Amino acid sequence: MKKKIAILGSTGSIGRASLNIIDRDIDKFKIVLLTANSNYSKIKKQILKYKPTYFVINNTKVFLKIKKKFKKKKIKFYNNLSELNLSNKIFDITISAIVGFAGLKPTIKFTPISKKILLANKEAIICGWHIINQLSKKNKTKIILIDSEHFSIDQLTENYKNEDIKKIYITASGGPFLRKPLKNFSKITPIDAANHPNWKMGKKISIDSASLMNKVLELIEAYKFFPFDPKKYEILIHPQSLIHSIVVFNNGQIKFLYHETDMKIPIANAIYGSKINIKKFKIKKGNFIENLKSIKFEKVDKKRFPIVTLLKKNIYKNSIPIILNASNEILVESFLNKKISFNSIYQCIKHLFRDRDFNKYAIKRSPNINEIYKIDKWARDKTVEIIESKL
Ligand code: NAD
Ligand code: MG
Repeated sequence: MKKKIAILGSTGSIGRASLNIIDRDIDKFKIVLLTANSNYSKIKKQILKYKPTYFVINNTKVFLKIKKKFKKKKIKFYNNLSELNLSNKIFDITISAIVGFAGLKPTIKFTPISKKILLANKEAIICGWHIINQLSKKNKTKIILIDSEHFSIDQLTENYKNEDIKKIYITASGGPFLRKPLKNFSKITPIDAANHPNWKMGKKISIDSASLMNKVLELIEAYKFFPFDPKKYEILIHPQSLIHSIVVFNNGQIKFLYHETDMKIPIANAIYGSKINIKKFKIKKGNFIENLKSIKFEKVDKKRFPIVTLLKKNIYKNSIPIILNASNEILVESFLNKKISFNSIYQCIKHLFRDRDFNKYAIKRSPNINEIYKIDKWARDKTVEIIESKL
Protein backbone atom coordinates (compact mmCIF):
# COMPACT_ATOMS: atom_id res chain seq x y z
CA MET A 1 0.00 0.00 0.00
CA LYS A 2 1.18 3.50 -0.82
CA LYS A 3 2.28 5.63 2.13
CA LYS A 4 0.01 8.63 2.62
CA ILE A 5 1.88 11.90 2.96
CA ALA A 6 1.01 15.40 4.20
CA ILE A 7 3.42 18.30 3.84
CA LEU A 8 2.73 21.44 5.85
CA GLY A 9 4.68 24.21 4.13
CA SER A 10 5.25 22.32 0.87
CA THR A 11 6.56 25.32 -1.12
CA GLY A 12 9.38 26.12 1.33
CA SER A 13 12.97 24.95 1.41
CA ILE A 14 12.25 21.90 3.64
CA GLY A 15 8.93 21.20 1.91
CA ARG A 16 10.61 21.07 -1.51
CA ALA A 17 13.57 19.02 -0.24
CA SER A 18 11.05 16.50 1.12
CA LEU A 19 9.16 16.37 -2.18
CA ASN A 20 12.46 15.86 -3.93
CA ILE A 21 13.10 12.70 -1.87
CA ILE A 22 9.55 11.43 -2.37
CA ASP A 23 9.78 12.09 -6.13
CA ARG A 24 12.50 9.46 -6.55
CA ASP A 25 10.16 6.79 -5.19
CA ILE A 26 6.82 8.27 -6.18
CA ASP A 27 5.07 4.92 -6.75
CA LYS A 28 5.52 4.16 -3.03
CA PHE A 29 3.79 7.37 -1.86
CA LYS A 30 0.50 9.22 -2.26
CA ILE A 31 0.66 12.96 -1.62
CA VAL A 32 -2.68 13.48 0.11
CA LEU A 33 -2.33 16.98 1.46
CA LEU A 34 -0.14 20.01 0.84
CA THR A 35 -0.27 23.42 2.49
CA ALA A 36 1.35 26.71 1.52
CA ASN A 37 1.03 30.40 2.05
CA SER A 38 1.28 32.61 -1.03
CA ASN A 39 3.73 31.47 -3.71
CA TYR A 40 1.31 31.18 -6.67
CA SER A 41 3.68 29.66 -9.21
CA LYS A 42 5.06 27.03 -6.83
CA ILE A 43 1.53 26.10 -5.67
CA LYS A 44 0.41 25.77 -9.30
CA LYS A 45 3.38 23.56 -10.18
CA GLN A 46 2.78 21.29 -7.18
CA ILE A 47 -0.92 20.91 -8.02
CA LEU A 48 -0.11 19.84 -11.58
CA LYS A 49 2.67 17.49 -10.55
CA TYR A 50 1.30 15.81 -7.40
CA LYS A 51 -2.49 16.17 -7.76
CA PRO A 52 -3.03 16.13 -3.98
CA THR A 53 -6.49 15.38 -2.57
CA TYR A 54 -6.34 18.56 -0.46
CA PHE A 55 -4.44 21.81 -0.84
CA VAL A 56 -4.64 24.44 1.90
CA ILE A 57 -3.60 27.94 0.80
CA ASN A 58 -3.44 30.50 3.56
CA ASN A 59 -3.27 33.67 1.54
CA THR A 60 -6.88 34.47 0.59
CA LYS A 61 -6.07 36.21 -2.70
CA VAL A 62 -3.88 33.34 -3.90
CA PHE A 63 -6.42 30.80 -2.61
CA LEU A 64 -9.22 32.39 -4.69
CA LYS A 65 -7.03 32.66 -7.77
CA ILE A 66 -5.95 28.99 -7.53
CA LYS A 67 -9.50 27.79 -6.82
CA LYS A 68 -10.73 29.56 -9.94
CA LYS A 69 -7.90 28.29 -12.11
CA PHE A 70 -8.34 24.66 -11.05
CA LYS A 71 -12.14 24.58 -10.69
CA LYS A 72 -12.40 21.61 -13.05
CA LYS A 73 -9.93 19.53 -11.01
CA LYS A 74 -11.07 17.20 -8.24
CA ILE A 75 -8.71 18.77 -5.68
CA LYS A 76 -10.35 20.20 -2.56
CA PHE A 77 -9.00 23.66 -1.78
CA TYR A 78 -9.21 25.32 1.62
CA ASN A 79 -8.21 28.78 2.78
CA ASN A 80 -7.68 27.67 6.35
CA LEU A 81 -6.61 24.39 7.88
CA SER A 82 -9.30 24.71 10.56
CA GLU A 83 -11.98 24.18 7.84
CA LEU A 84 -10.62 20.71 7.23
CA ASN A 85 -12.00 17.73 9.16
CA LEU A 86 -9.74 14.71 8.96
CA SER A 87 -10.32 11.36 10.57
CA ASN A 88 -8.04 9.32 12.76
CA LYS A 89 -4.51 8.36 11.62
CA ILE A 90 -4.98 9.01 7.97
CA PHE A 91 -1.38 10.00 7.31
CA ASP A 92 1.60 7.66 7.42
CA ILE A 93 4.04 10.58 7.35
CA THR A 94 3.47 14.29 7.96
CA ILE A 95 6.27 16.74 7.33
CA SER A 96 5.84 19.83 9.49
CA ALA A 97 7.78 22.52 7.62
CA ILE A 98 5.87 25.79 8.01
CA VAL A 99 8.14 28.58 9.21
CA GLY A 100 7.47 30.30 12.53
CA PHE A 101 4.68 30.33 15.10
CA ALA A 102 2.17 29.88 12.24
CA GLY A 103 3.19 26.21 12.23
CA LEU A 104 2.14 25.51 15.81
CA LYS A 105 -1.60 24.90 15.35
CA PRO A 106 -1.12 22.84 12.16
CA THR A 107 1.48 20.66 13.93
CA ILE A 108 -0.89 20.15 16.88
CA LYS A 109 -3.75 19.31 14.49
CA PHE A 110 -1.68 16.72 12.61
CA THR A 111 -0.15 14.97 15.63
CA PRO A 112 -3.15 12.72 16.41
CA ILE A 113 -3.86 11.96 12.75
CA SER A 114 -0.33 10.98 11.67
CA LYS A 115 1.67 7.85 12.38
CA LYS A 116 4.97 9.68 12.08
CA ILE A 117 5.82 13.38 12.04
CA LEU A 118 9.04 14.77 10.64
CA LEU A 119 9.23 18.00 12.59
CA ALA A 120 11.32 20.83 11.11
CA ASN A 121 9.23 23.72 12.45
CA LYS A 122 11.39 24.54 15.49
CA GLU A 123 9.21 27.49 16.53
CA ALA A 124 6.31 25.05 17.15
CA ILE A 125 8.52 23.00 19.48
CA ILE A 126 9.75 26.07 21.30
CA CYS A 127 6.25 27.41 21.90
CA GLY A 128 4.12 24.30 22.31
CA TRP A 129 6.21 21.18 22.78
CA HIS A 130 4.29 20.24 25.95
CA ILE A 131 1.06 20.06 23.91
CA ILE A 132 2.57 18.22 20.92
CA ASN A 133 4.39 15.78 23.22
CA GLN A 134 1.27 14.96 25.21
CA LEU A 135 -0.73 14.36 22.02
CA SER A 136 2.01 12.23 20.48
CA LYS A 137 2.16 10.00 23.57
CA LYS A 138 -1.61 9.66 23.75
CA ASN A 139 -1.89 8.80 20.05
CA LYS A 140 1.38 6.86 19.70
CA THR A 141 2.68 9.25 17.05
CA LYS A 142 6.40 9.00 16.40
CA ILE A 143 8.07 12.41 16.30
CA ILE A 144 11.42 12.84 14.58
CA LEU A 145 13.19 16.19 14.66
CA ILE A 146 14.83 16.75 11.29
CA ASP A 147 16.79 19.86 12.19
CA SER A 148 20.23 18.43 11.34
CA GLU A 149 21.74 19.04 14.80
CA HIS A 150 18.84 17.35 16.58
CA PHE A 151 18.64 14.50 14.13
CA SER A 152 22.32 13.80 14.77
CA ILE A 153 22.03 14.10 18.59
CA ASP A 154 19.17 11.62 18.42
CA GLN A 155 21.29 9.14 16.45
CA LEU A 156 24.37 9.59 18.64
CA THR A 157 22.58 9.26 21.97
CA GLU A 158 20.25 6.39 21.11
CA ASN A 159 20.28 3.94 24.06
CA TYR A 160 22.23 6.35 26.31
CA LYS A 161 20.94 8.14 29.40
CA ASN A 162 21.72 11.53 30.94
CA GLU A 163 24.25 9.96 33.36
CA ASP A 164 26.24 8.45 30.44
CA ILE A 165 26.77 11.83 28.82
CA LYS A 166 29.25 14.51 29.81
CA LYS A 167 28.73 17.11 27.12
CA ILE A 168 26.76 17.77 23.93
CA TYR A 169 28.07 20.29 21.43
CA ILE A 170 25.65 21.78 18.92
CA THR A 171 27.58 23.27 16.05
CA ALA A 172 26.91 26.63 14.37
CA SER A 173 28.49 27.77 11.14
CA GLY A 174 28.68 31.37 12.37
CA GLY A 175 26.82 32.47 9.23
CA PRO A 176 27.92 35.21 6.83
CA PHE A 177 29.34 37.54 9.53
CA LEU A 178 31.77 35.23 11.29
CA ARG A 179 34.75 37.27 10.09
CA LYS A 180 33.10 40.62 9.31
CA PRO A 181 34.72 43.56 11.15
CA LEU A 182 32.41 44.55 14.02
CA LYS A 183 32.59 48.22 12.99
CA ASN A 184 30.74 47.30 9.76
CA PHE A 185 27.83 45.56 11.49
CA SER A 186 25.76 48.75 11.46
CA LYS A 187 25.71 48.63 7.64
CA ILE A 188 24.44 45.05 7.30
CA THR A 189 21.64 44.73 4.74
CA PRO A 190 18.96 42.00 4.48
CA ILE A 191 20.72 40.66 1.38
CA ASP A 192 24.03 40.35 3.29
CA ALA A 193 22.32 38.60 6.21
CA ALA A 194 20.32 36.15 4.07
CA ASN A 195 23.45 35.05 2.26
CA HIS A 196 24.33 31.91 4.26
CA PRO A 197 27.72 30.44 3.32
CA ASN A 198 26.76 26.74 3.56
CA TRP A 199 23.00 26.19 3.44
CA LYS A 200 20.22 27.28 1.10
CA MET A 201 17.27 27.93 3.40
CA GLY A 202 14.20 30.12 3.85
CA LYS A 203 14.71 33.83 4.63
CA LYS A 204 13.75 33.75 8.30
CA ILE A 205 16.08 30.92 9.32
CA SER A 206 18.88 32.51 7.25
CA ILE A 207 18.61 35.78 9.22
CA ASP A 208 18.41 33.77 12.47
CA SER A 209 21.60 31.96 11.43
CA ALA A 210 23.39 35.26 10.85
CA SER A 211 22.52 36.54 14.34
CA LEU A 212 22.91 33.09 15.95
CA MET A 213 19.29 33.29 17.14
CA ASN A 214 18.84 30.06 15.19
CA LYS A 215 21.27 28.37 17.59
CA VAL A 216 19.53 29.85 20.64
CA LEU A 217 16.22 28.48 19.31
CA GLU A 218 17.90 25.13 18.60
CA LEU A 219 19.24 24.89 22.14
CA ILE A 220 15.74 25.47 23.51
CA GLU A 221 14.48 22.89 21.00
CA ALA A 222 17.05 20.39 22.33
CA TYR A 223 16.30 21.15 26.02
CA LYS A 224 12.64 20.47 25.39
CA PHE A 225 12.98 17.35 23.27
CA PHE A 226 15.88 15.40 24.81
CA PRO A 227 15.98 14.21 28.43
CA PHE A 228 19.51 15.57 29.06
CA ASP A 229 20.56 18.21 31.55
CA PRO A 230 20.51 21.63 29.77
CA LYS A 231 23.88 22.48 31.40
CA LYS A 232 25.54 19.78 29.28
CA TYR A 233 24.91 21.62 25.99
CA GLU A 234 27.30 24.08 24.42
CA ILE A 235 27.38 25.91 21.09
CA LEU A 236 30.56 25.43 19.10
CA ILE A 237 31.37 27.43 15.98
CA HIS A 238 32.23 25.13 13.10
CA PRO A 239 32.37 27.17 9.88
CA GLN A 240 32.16 24.18 7.50
CA SER A 241 28.78 22.86 8.89
CA LEU A 242 29.80 19.26 8.18
CA ILE A 243 29.68 18.02 11.77
CA HIS A 244 26.26 18.64 13.23
CA SER A 245 26.76 17.63 16.84
CA ILE A 246 29.44 16.11 19.07
CA VAL A 247 28.61 13.99 22.11
CA VAL A 248 31.24 13.42 24.83
CA PHE A 249 30.43 10.27 26.82
CA ASN A 250 31.62 9.43 30.33
CA ASN A 251 33.04 6.15 28.97
CA GLY A 252 35.95 7.98 27.32
CA GLN A 253 34.43 8.02 23.84
CA ILE A 254 33.53 11.07 21.80
CA LYS A 255 31.19 10.61 18.85
CA PHE A 256 30.31 13.08 16.17
CA LEU A 257 28.03 12.94 13.18
CA TYR A 258 29.29 14.16 9.83
CA HIS A 259 27.24 14.63 6.69
CA GLU A 260 27.13 16.98 3.72
CA THR A 261 25.21 20.25 4.06
CA ASP A 262 22.07 18.89 2.44
CA MET A 263 18.84 18.62 4.43
CA LYS A 264 17.79 15.73 2.18
CA ILE A 265 20.08 13.51 4.29
CA PRO A 266 18.21 13.84 7.61
CA ILE A 267 14.88 13.93 5.74
CA ALA A 268 15.58 10.69 3.79
CA ASN A 269 16.91 8.95 6.93
CA ALA A 270 13.81 10.02 8.84
CA ILE A 271 11.44 8.83 6.09
CA TYR A 272 13.09 5.45 5.42
CA GLY A 273 15.20 4.72 8.52
CA SER A 274 19.00 4.73 8.66
CA LYS A 275 19.49 1.65 6.42
CA ILE A 276 18.56 3.74 3.37
CA ASN A 277 20.97 3.99 0.45
CA ILE A 278 20.88 7.67 -0.47
CA LYS A 279 22.44 7.18 -3.92
CA LYS A 280 19.17 7.68 -5.80
CA PHE A 281 18.38 11.02 -4.12
CA LYS A 282 21.08 13.03 -5.93
CA ILE A 283 22.53 14.38 -2.74
CA LYS A 284 25.51 16.72 -2.77
CA LYS A 285 28.76 14.73 -2.67
CA GLY A 286 31.95 15.85 -0.97
CA ASN A 287 35.38 14.40 -0.37
CA PHE A 288 35.23 13.77 3.36
CA ILE A 289 38.93 12.87 3.72
CA GLU A 290 39.88 16.22 2.16
CA ASN A 291 37.17 18.04 4.15
CA LEU A 292 38.29 16.56 7.47
CA LYS A 293 41.73 18.14 6.96
CA SER A 294 40.25 21.62 6.98
CA ILE A 295 37.62 21.22 9.67
CA LYS A 296 37.81 23.91 12.37
CA PHE A 297 36.07 24.60 15.66
CA GLU A 298 36.08 27.72 17.79
CA LYS A 299 34.27 29.17 20.78
CA VAL A 300 31.42 31.65 20.21
CA ASP A 301 32.53 35.28 20.31
CA LYS A 302 29.83 36.91 22.46
CA LYS A 303 30.69 40.42 21.27
CA ARG A 304 29.96 39.36 17.71
CA PHE A 305 26.91 37.27 18.62
CA PRO A 306 25.43 38.92 21.77
CA ILE A 307 22.18 36.99 21.27
CA VAL A 308 23.80 33.88 22.80
CA THR A 309 24.11 35.71 26.13
CA LEU A 310 20.32 35.35 26.38
CA LEU A 311 20.90 31.68 27.13
CA LYS A 312 22.27 32.61 30.56
CA LYS A 313 18.88 33.75 31.73
CA ASN A 314 17.07 30.42 31.84
CA ILE A 315 15.25 31.45 28.71
CA TYR A 316 14.08 27.91 28.10
CA LYS A 317 11.96 28.04 31.24
CA ASN A 318 8.38 29.16 31.84
CA SER A 319 6.87 30.84 28.79
CA ILE A 320 9.98 32.83 27.97
CA PRO A 321 10.62 30.88 24.72
CA ILE A 322 7.19 32.02 23.43
CA ILE A 323 8.07 35.65 24.20
CA LEU A 324 11.54 35.32 22.68
CA ASN A 325 10.22 33.67 19.53
CA ALA A 326 7.38 36.13 18.95
CA SER A 327 9.63 39.13 19.43
CA ASN A 328 12.28 37.67 17.13
CA GLU A 329 9.70 37.01 14.39
CA ILE A 330 8.63 40.68 14.47
CA LEU A 331 12.24 41.88 14.55
CA VAL A 332 13.37 39.67 11.66
CA GLU A 333 10.42 40.87 9.57
CA SER A 334 11.20 44.50 10.45
CA PHE A 335 14.86 43.98 9.55
CA LEU A 336 13.87 42.39 6.22
CA ASN A 337 11.61 45.39 5.55
CA LYS A 338 14.57 47.69 6.34
CA LYS A 339 12.75 49.25 9.32
CA ILE A 340 15.47 48.37 11.81
CA SER A 341 19.18 47.59 11.72
CA PHE A 342 20.67 44.13 12.21
CA ASN A 343 22.11 45.16 15.61
CA SER A 344 18.64 46.28 16.77
CA ILE A 345 17.41 42.67 16.85
CA TYR A 346 19.34 41.94 20.04
CA GLN A 347 18.86 45.45 21.47
CA CYS A 348 15.06 45.26 21.18
CA ILE A 349 14.88 41.78 22.74
CA LYS A 350 16.96 43.01 25.69
CA HIS A 351 14.56 45.90 26.04
CA LEU A 352 11.52 43.61 25.95
CA PHE A 353 12.99 41.32 28.61
CA ARG A 354 13.21 44.35 30.92
CA ASP A 355 9.59 45.39 30.35
CA ARG A 356 7.55 45.79 33.53
CA ASP A 357 4.91 43.34 32.28
CA PHE A 358 7.47 40.69 31.33
CA ASN A 359 7.00 38.56 34.46
CA LYS A 360 3.23 38.67 34.06
CA TYR A 361 3.56 36.90 30.71
CA ALA A 362 6.55 34.66 31.50
CA ILE A 363 4.20 32.36 33.43
CA LYS A 364 5.51 29.30 35.26
CA ARG A 365 2.95 26.61 34.52
CA SER A 366 2.63 25.12 31.04
CA PRO A 367 0.30 27.41 29.11
CA ASN A 368 -2.65 26.04 27.17
CA ILE A 369 -3.09 26.98 23.52
CA ASN A 370 -5.15 30.12 24.26
CA GLU A 371 -2.58 31.30 26.78
CA ILE A 372 0.22 30.63 24.27
CA TYR A 373 -1.57 32.89 21.78
CA LYS A 374 -2.05 35.58 24.43
CA ILE A 375 1.63 35.54 25.41
CA ASP A 376 2.69 35.53 21.75
CA LYS A 377 0.43 38.51 21.01
CA TRP A 378 1.67 40.52 23.98
CA ALA A 379 5.30 39.98 22.91
CA ARG A 380 4.56 40.95 19.31
CA ASP A 381 2.65 44.12 20.27
CA LYS A 382 5.29 45.15 22.81
CA THR A 383 8.09 44.57 20.28
CA VAL A 384 6.31 46.79 17.73
CA GLU A 385 6.03 49.48 20.45
CA ILE A 386 9.74 49.17 21.23
CA ILE A 387 10.66 49.40 17.53
CA GLU A 388 8.49 52.49 17.09
CA SER A 389 9.89 54.19 20.18
CA LYS A 390 13.41 53.68 18.85
CA LEU A 391 12.75 54.98 15.35
P1 NAD B 1 10.62 28.65 4.00
O1 NAD B 1 10.41 30.08 4.26
O2 NAD B 1 11.48 28.25 2.85
O3 NAD B 1 9.22 27.89 3.83
C1 NAD B 1 8.18 28.11 4.72
C2 NAD B 1 6.90 27.39 4.29
O4 NAD B 1 5.87 27.78 5.22
C3 NAD B 1 6.39 27.78 2.89
O5 NAD B 1 5.79 26.65 2.29
C4 NAD B 1 5.33 28.84 3.17
O6 NAD B 1 4.32 28.87 2.18
C5 NAD B 1 4.77 28.37 4.50
N1 NAD B 1 4.25 29.48 5.31
C6 NAD B 1 4.89 30.64 5.60
N2 NAD B 1 4.10 31.42 6.37
C7 NAD B 1 2.96 30.74 6.58
C8 NAD B 1 1.75 31.02 7.26
N3 NAD B 1 1.56 32.18 7.91
N4 NAD B 1 0.79 30.08 7.28
C9 NAD B 1 0.95 28.91 6.64
N5 NAD B 1 2.06 28.59 5.94
C10 NAD B 1 3.06 29.49 5.90
O7 NAD B 1 11.22 28.02 5.36
P2 NAD B 1 12.21 26.77 5.54
O8 NAD B 1 13.61 27.23 5.43
O9 NAD B 1 11.73 25.62 4.72
O10 NAD B 1 11.97 26.43 7.08
C11 NAD B 1 10.79 25.80 7.55
C12 NAD B 1 10.99 25.40 9.01
O11 NAD B 1 12.04 24.41 9.06
C13 NAD B 1 11.47 26.56 9.91
O12 NAD B 1 10.89 26.42 11.16
C14 NAD B 1 12.97 26.35 9.99
O13 NAD B 1 13.52 26.85 11.19
C15 NAD B 1 13.09 24.83 9.93
N6 NAD B 1 14.37 24.34 9.41
C16 NAD B 1 14.74 24.66 8.14
C17 NAD B 1 15.97 24.22 7.65
C18 NAD B 1 16.39 24.54 6.23
O14 NAD B 1 17.45 24.05 5.81
N7 NAD B 1 15.65 25.30 5.47
C19 NAD B 1 16.81 23.45 8.46
C20 NAD B 1 16.39 23.14 9.75
C21 NAD B 1 15.17 23.57 10.20
MG1 MG C 1 19.80 23.37 12.38
